[in-house]
Parts: sequence; C-alpha cells; structure tokens
Amino acid sequence: MSHVLIVEDEAHLAKGLQYNLEAEGHSVAVVGDGERALELLLGKSAKPTAFDAVVLDVMLPGKDGFAVAAELRAAKQYVPVLMLTARGRPEDVLKGFASGADDYLPKPFELPILLARLQGLLRRREWMQQSLASSAAPAAGNQEYEAFSFHGRTIDFGKLELRVNGNTIQLTLMEAELLRHLIRNEGRVVSRKSILEEVWGLHEDTDTRAIDNFIVRLRRYIEDNPAEPRHLLTVRGVGYRFVAEPEKE
Ligand code: CA
Repeated sequence: MSHVLIVEDEAHLAKGLQYNLEAEGHSVAVVGDGERALELLLGKSAKPTAFDAVVLDVMLPGKDGFAVAAELRAAKQYVPVLMLTARGRPEDVLKGFASGADDYLPKPFELPILLARLQGLLRRREWMQQSLASSAAPAAGNQEYEAFSFHGRTIDFGKLELRVNGNTIQLTLMEAELLRHLIRNEGRVVSRKSILEEVWGLHEDTDTRAIDNFIVRLRRYIEDNPAEPRHLLTVRGVGYRFVAEPEKE
C-alpha cells in the first residue's frame, strides 16, 4: 500500500481522486492548499517518508504548485511529484519540470491515465528503495549502474546524485531513471516512444514533450555548453543518443 498526498482545492476533483486511489488500495490524504502540503511534507512534525507520491495541482489558492514543488526540492524532499497542469499551456509543463516535478498531466485528464502515471512513479520509487537497500549489502555482480562515471562526471543512482566538477546535483527520481536508460543504451539511438515505455512505463499514446523537457534539464546538468551538447545528442525525428566520451575535436 502506498501513501499518496493529493494537493487540490477543487473539492469534487480531490474527492473523486481520493475515492479512486483508495479503491486501488492506496492510503490517501487530501489538502486544499500548498501551505498545508508543505506543512505535511516539511513541517516540524513531518516524517520525510510519510508519503510515497504527491499529486500536486498547479492552480491553488496562495502558493501555486510550482512554488510548492520548488520548496520541496530546495528542502531536499524528493518525494515523486505528479503535477496537474492546465491544458494548452506548454510553458506550464516546462515550469513544472523546472520546479522539480517528476511527471505532469494536463487537466482535464482521464482517470485511468492518472492512475497509470502515478503507478509508474510508485513502481520506480519502490525499485529505487530496493536498490538503495541492496547497495548497503551489495550482492556480487549486482552492482550494474549503481554508479556510472563518464568524462569527469559521476552519477550515483542509489543516492540520486550527479557529481560534476566538485559540485553535487540532486536528481529527481525520473531524471535519474532517464539517465540510467540512456546510459544503458550508450551509443545507440533511443526513441521517445521507447523512453516512454521503458522509463515511464507508459504504453498508450502520450505526449512525448515531457521527455524533451527532461533532456533540456539533464543537459544543463551534464553538458559544459547545453546549447552544444556532446553527451546527450538529439537524433532528429527519432529521439536521443547518449555518448559517454565524445571524441576530441
Ligand atoms: Ca486547483
């Protein structure tokens, strides 16, 4: 059973979500504004692991969803966040990812899609926690991609950390998962569709722009010049290719 926090001020929508998540076997808490969400996730009596995922609406009274996500990440609270954005506002999607959301869904959404997205985030989290637990007592030969170093950068998948030039950057769950997928396929072209399937666990026809936004963010972390990437290359019309050690020019 997972603990899910819903942050949504539209009571009927929050209730419907709660009802359906509970029917799926999750335990659910609902709050109607960002301040209360931050209190539950970061307040003095908050337990860092009290929630396994947060469904966070952007449009909230007081602090909006972007501000809430940004405060969570600034406080090193990396609970997976599924952000609900307004349809037809792609700038919100970018803003959402920039503030630290792991995934987004435009409103109005189909409930099965939301459940699938949330399930994807929860699966990843569980998987990550298992890999954290197993990295404390590593089984021989089971160390694949716990950490990966390339070109002066090191990614620690257990801690979700990227170390570059003496700086440590905290990655969100899905940033780390996307990097892991690209690294596994080093040198090969990976399509957006396969990324959606393998990383997000989504098989339905979905907007792939989310992936492009993630790539933009990852480039900011790992490229010397994000405008001229040498590690995360775009393959026009298809997807992306990761190159660990670019040839010297
Ligand atoms: Ca709202």
